[in-house]
Amino acid sequence: MSVLELRDLRVTYAGDVPAVRGVDLSVAAGEVLGIAGESGCGKSTITNAVLRLLPRSAEVGGQVLLDGEDVYGMSFGRLRAVRWAQASIVFQGALHSLNAVQRIGRQIAEPILLHSKVSRREADKRVAELLEQVGLPARRARDYPHQLSGGQRQRVMIALALACGPRLLIADEPTTALDVMVQAQVLDLLSSLVKDLGLSMVLISHDLSVLGSVCDRVAVMYAGRVVEQGPATAVFDDPRHPYSAALAGAFPRIGDERFRYSPRGLPGDPPFPGDLPGGCPFHPRCPIAVDLCATTEVTLAGVGDGRTSACLRATERGLDLRGAR
Ligand code: ADP
Ligand code: MG
Repeated sequence: MSVLELRDLRVTYAGDVPAVRGVDLSVAAGEVLGIAGESGCGKSTITNAVLRLLPRSAEVGGQVLLDGEDVYGMSFGRLRAVRWAQASIVFQGALHSLNAVQRIGRQIAEPILLHSKVSRREADKRVAELLEQVGLPARRARDYPHQLSGGQRQRVMIALALACGPRLLIADEPTTALDVMVQAQVLDLLSSLVKDLGLSMVLISHDLSVLGSVCDRVAVMYAGRVVEQGPATAVFDDPRHPYSAALAGAFPRIGDERFRYSPRGLPGDPPFPGDLPGGCPFHPRCPIAVDLCATTEVTLAGVGDGRTSACLRATERGLDLRGAR
């Protein structure tokens, strides 16, 4: 059974903003699934939908199953337990959400004391163990957040997420706010934790290259839908959707202003969900679009080797998407 399964997940924010428009994804035990896509494609909306953390005004359709149990059918008591002990999230931008006036050891101990019947001493022991697991000496428990570097604070956030022994970790842009060297260390840490603890993980990033080395499978999102899914290395090396190709080519080129903010060679931004273009929502930016793309709604279809793509031209013979980079 999947640790996490999304079935036709749809999320519409107030004001008719369909941020997630029918996403099917699953994560098996011990598997690392990457979700890629530019800012605004709906990645964090999925993160929040999994543990029912969306604003009340958001309409949710479809199903979220954790170990087969429907999250939206759970009582609040059950949900509270599940949020720490079964699946936990390292939130996007959470680096700055630690309590500035409380020692980090206390902050990590809090959910442990709340969710398991342990003594203060046992909780402190567990805190020491968690800190060591994320590569920090146990004595750092006495530090306040300002005494830690950005990378160390992100390690603390990961320790917090692991505090109650979840089976699934969702890490939403865990390295985005960090410099490149520290990014690599945090990614190494996440992948070794997944292996050592036998966790499943959903790793979210706008940077496909971050996902390539850590994930088993990758789903690429655009405008609230998955546009390509497959084994991580395949999606990265031989994309079957022009949007994945653009993301895969998005390594920054020093000194070239055009490529500073958007994937290499891709003009513009993703559409606002409240105002999607007709046909394939990617067609206005697509380097290989044909007339049909503006009028045909394309759904995910198998393109061989366990891969799916939502591009009209994905199965065209001889199509070379490397040109789209
Ligand atoms: P990503 O994480 O991929 O950057 P998000 O899931 O954060 O994307 O956002 C998807 C879309 O939903 C964006 O257009 C964003 O503006 C919109 N959105 C996100 N949160 C809210 C909210 N609370 N209310 C209304 N719109 C929102
Ligand atoms: Mg986000």
